[in-house]
Amino acid sequence: MDKHYDAIVIGGGVIGCAIAYHLARARARVLLLERGGIGQGTTAQSSCILRTHYSVPENVALAQAAWHVYADFAAYLDDPEADCGLVKCGYLIAAPEGDRAHALRESLAAQRARGIAAEEIDAATASRLLPIARLDDAALIGYEPEAGYADAWLATSAFARNARRLGAMIREGSAATGLIRERDRVLGVRTARGPIHAGVVIGAQNIWSRELAQWCGIELPLAIERHAVITLECGGAPYTRAMPVYKDLASPAMIYCRSYGGTQMLVSAGTHGEALSTPDTTQADVPLETVIDLGAQVAQRFPAYGEAGLASSWTGVYDVTPDWNPVLGPLPGIDGLLVAYGFSGHGFKLAPAIGRVLAQAALDKPTEVPLAPFALGRFATGRALRGRYGAGAVS
Ligand SMILES: Cc1cc2nc3c(=O)[nH]c(=O)nc-3n(C[C@H](O)[C@H](O)[C@H](O)COP(=O)(O)OP(=O)(O)OC[C@H]3O[C@@H](n4cnc5c(N)ncnc54)[C@H](O)[C@@H]3O)c2cc1C
Repeated sequence: MDKHYDAIVIGGGVIGCAIAYHLARARARVLLLERGGIGQGTTAQSSCILRTHYSVPENVALAQAAWHVYADFAAYLDDPEADCGLVKCGYLIAAPEGDRAHALRESLAAQRARGIAAEEIDAATASRLLPIARLDDAALIGYEPEAGYADAWLATSAFARNARRLGAMIREGSAATGLIRERDRVLGVRTARGPIHAGVVIGAQNIWSRELAQWCGIELPLAIERHAVITLECGGAPYTRAMPVYKDLASPAMIYCRSYGGTQMLVSAGTHGEALSTPDTTQADVPLETVIDLGAQVAQRFPAYGEAGLASSWTGVYDVTPDWNPVLGPLPGIDGLLVAYGFSGHGFKLAPAIGRVLAQAALDKPTEVPLAPFALGRFATGRALRGRYGAGAVS
């Protein structure tokens, strides 16, 4: 006879671990199944930028709730050793004349309406914050001081450790291989070591969510995209930890940049990546053309980086939905199953809030941020959460 849990979480990335932690914190008996190792899926490839800036208001609400957790991580987890590696350097975002400046102005105002410090600043102020950048041609510059970046492994492992401390069972090297169902109700999961029953199952499988879709015979819209990340070394113009993360809405790829290791610049594109037909996080070569293209966009904004050298490069994979926003909550017509997938390249910053609201939903409690806008059904009913900056992870 297998043990009966209140909840089983499938997937031990930052999302699954945050969900398991919040379930355990709510005193639920929880089992997390991770096929590989904790935090070794797409979470390990994250740039980990934290901001509340979004043009989709529902995301601002989640990001704001999540920021409060990251900003006071040890106290929130009640674990003096917990550290998410937060570098609170702020977030600078610049837009060219036109629709994007308009969207930026309105998004900053919407943030302020929620009590978030999000200012419009002039080019001279921006240059003092990010002296290596040339920002005089930007039509509008936004600045969010309560933002920065963190560390994927530190955050994920802290959620996992504290979930265990509160009684959760975390099994690594243990895959869910199917669902146990009785008509329209999910009763647990199948594993190679036998069935495990639970009151509710939560799928947090990211790019592997198609597997869950097959098990329950439901279509989960999901594109799998590989993205390149590079780091540049420019001796004369180091990107220090004190300098804000930078988002360039004027560049063709809507690039983002941040300090890496205190001197280098980490750069990646905020738009579409390379489409993959199957989930695969194996490292791929970053083509020279990609390095040249990203490097040229960087040099437009950071003149000294015209002479920068490539320090390192890697790839990471996004789970992209049709509107670049996650699907959260129950699946229609199936009781006892919830999902949290489709983070489309911006799930790390949301993870603590996702953990809390998914745990609330799984335990049939009111969620502090409504999940209805993130329902799967939005795609079929014309209620997609379209970001105002076009397709991309800034959303
Ligand atoms: C290059 C890159 C840069 C990014 N930058 C940022 C950023 O700056 N800011 C930000 O907020 N977000 C960013 N993101 C996005 C963010 O990192 C992700 O949204 C987040 O880490 C996803 O976490 P996850 O737990 O959903 O997925 P994952 O970490 O992929 O975890 C899913 C887990 O499920 C497990 N699994 C799957 N199927 C099964 C099964 N059947 N049984 C058991 N286990 C299973 C897998 O092994 C995996 O460990 C970035 C992502 C990438 C790739």
